[in-house]
Amino acid sequence: MTLLFWFRRDLRVQDNEALSAAVSRAQSDKQPLAAGFVFGEDFQNLSPIRRNSLITSVKSLSDSLPEGLIFRSGNVAASLLSICKDLDVSVVYATRSFDTHGMLEQSAVAELLYGAGISLQLVGSNYAVQPGTVRKDDESTLRVYTPFYKRWVQFIGQRPIEVKTESVSWVAGSGELPELSQDCTMKIQASEAYALDTWRRFQKRALRDYSENRNRTDLSGTSHLSHALAHGEIHPRTLLAELGDSPGEEVFRKELAWREFYADVLFHNPHTYDGYYEPRFEKMRYDSAENNSKLEAWKTGNTGYPIVDAAMRQLLTTGWMHNRSRMIVASFLVKDLHIEWQIGARWFEKWLTDFDPASNSHGWQWTAGCGTDASPYYRVFNPTLQGYKFDPNGDYVRKYIPELRHIAGAEVHEPWKLIDGLQNGYPAPILDHSLERDESLARLEEIKG
Ligand SMILES: Cc1cc2nc3c(=O)[nH]c(=O)nc-3n(C[C@H](O)[C@H](O)[C@H](O)COP(=O)(O)OP(=O)(O)OC[C@H]3O[C@@H](n4cnc5c(N)ncnc54)[C@H](O)[C@@H]3O)c2cc1C
Repeated sequence: MTLLFWFRRDLRVQDNEALSAAVSRAQSDKQPLAAGFVFGEDFQNLSPIRRNSLITSVKSLSDSLPEGLIFRSGNVAASLLSICKDLDVSVVYATRSFDTHGMLEQSAVAELLYGAGISLQLVGSNYAVQPGTVRKDDESTLRVYTPFYKRWVQFIGQRPIEVKTESVSWVAGSGELPELSQDCTMKIQASEAYALDTWRRFQKRALRDYSENRNRTDLSGTSHLSHALAHGEIHPRTLLAELGDSPGEEVFRKELAWREFYADVLFHNPHTYDGYYEPRFEKMRYDSAENNSKLEAWKTGNTGYPIVDAAMRQLLTTGWMHNRSRMIVASFLVKDLHIEWQIGARWFEKWLTDFDPASNSHGWQWTAGCGTDASPYYRVFNPTLQGYKFDPNGDYVRKYIPELRHIAGAEVHEPWKLIDGLQNGYPAPILDHSLERDESLARLEEIKG
C-alpha cells in the first residue's frame, strides 16, 4: 500500500501542515509516499501568463521533492483515482480548501475515492487562522474587518512547521508537465525558495516604509508576495512569525489579515464568489457587456485615462497589478462604464497570476460598494486625481504606456490638455468622468427608492 499527497494551492514543502501529517503517517505505517498534482479542466481557460506561472510553480516544487511529482491533466477526481489505482493507494492527504470551487472540488474527490474504498484526509489550510475560526462571543460570524482583526490577531503566533522529507521513502514521479505557452514572453520566476527570497528582499527593501509607500503605484513599496501566497509557495505563518511591531510591520500584518478576512467571508457565503454580498445591488441598472466597445477599451488599456490604462496594461504584461490600481480600474468599470463587477472579476481571474477567489471577489465587491464592510457606492474614484496622487511624477504611466513617454512629469495624467499629448496615437478619453459619476449616483438613487 502507498500513501498519496495531493498538492493543490500549497506548492511548498516546508511549513506545510498537511504534508507533515502525510509524512508522519507514512513513517508510522512504514508506507512509501507518492506526491501528485493535477492540472484541472479549467487550466486551458487561463491566460498564457497564468498557465506559465502555474507550470513554473509546479515544476519548481517537483524539482525540490526527492523523487519529483506525478503529473496528470484533466478531471481532478478521476485523475487522482487513477493514480490511486496505479499505486495501490489507501489514503490521500491534502490541504483543506475553504473557497467555493476548492470546497466543491474536494467534495467530488472525497466522494469518488470513497466509492473505491480510499479515504481523503484534509488537513490544515493556507491561512494563519483557518476560515470559520474567528467568531463573536455569541458564535456569530464577523461582517466587519476591524473587529475581525482584533479577534484574529489573538489566534496567530504558531511556529512554522518543519517537514522532514528525507524521513520517508518516495515513489518516483511520472507524467508530463503541460508545455509552456510561447504566447507569454515574460520570464516567470516562482518556487518555494524564490518566495522566501522575495520575502527577505522585501524585509530589507521596503517593509520599514511599507505604511507610507504601499499606495504609490510608481514605487516598489509592497511585497509582491501575492503570487507566492496564492500558489501556497509560502505560508502566512512563516511571514507572521518574523513580524515585529514597527509601523510598517503592523500595517503589513493587517494586510495579511484582509486576505484572511475575505477567505472567512467567502467560506461563510460561498455564493459571493460571483453573487452579490449585498443583494440589493443586483437590482441596479447596469450596461450590457455584450459587444461593448468601452469594455474592450478597458480590457486592453485604451480608455484614454492614463492611470487606468497603465494598470490594465501592467496586468496584461506582468500578470500582476498594484492594489491601488486594482481599486481604480474596478471603480472605473463599475461606476464609469456601469458594468457589473463580475465581468471585471472574471477578467482578473483569467490574467492575475496571484488570483485568489476570496480576495478577488471581495476586492471587487469592496470597490463596487456591494461587499461586506465595503467602500460606500457613492465614493466614486476620480481616475485623474488618483493618478496625480498615487503616481505623482507620472513614472508608472510612462512605464506601461509608450505612447505617452514623450510627456515629462505629472502632466502625463491629462494628455488631452497638451497640444502634442495624443500625437503618438494614445486615445482621447472614451467618456466624461464627471457625467458618468452623476449617472452612477442616479442609478444608486433608483435602487434606494
Ligand atoms: C479589485 C481587486 C481584486 C483583487 N484581487 C486579488 C487577487 O485575486 N489575489 C490577491 O492575492 N489579492 C487580490 N487583491 C488584493 C491586493 O490587491 C493584492 O493582494 C496585492 O496587490 C498584492 O500585492 P502584494 O503582494 O505586493 O501586496 P502587499 O501590499 O505586499 O500585501 C501582502 C499580502 O497581503 C494580502 N493583501 C494585501 N492587500 C490585500 C487586500 N486588499 N485584500 C486581500 N488581501 C490583501 C495579499 O496576500 C498580499 O500578498 C485584489 C484587490 C482588489 C481591489
